[in-house]
Amino acid sequence: MNIKQCPLCHNEVILGTALFSAELGEGVLIVKNVPATICPVCGEKWFDHETMIKLEAVADNARSRHALIEVVAFDAA
Ligand SMILES: [Zn+2]
Repeated sequence: MNIKQCPLCHNEVILGTALFSAELGEGVLIVKNVPATICPVCGEKWFDHETMIKLEAVADNARSRHALIEVVAFDAA
């Protein structure tokens, strides 16, 4: 994914890190410091394909342990 302009507000996007959160059925997963493309104006964020694959692996892992609340840093994932 290579977004240069926010499709919502048409401002220029920046590279940074963001919080990723997902519901795991019975639990919640929060991953900090995820590399992302971010719109500084409206706060919309996008993760690239490689990052999504890693996030899915983290989610699968948390789900398999039936974690209720899992908070991890992306670097450690
Ligand atoms: Zn925007």
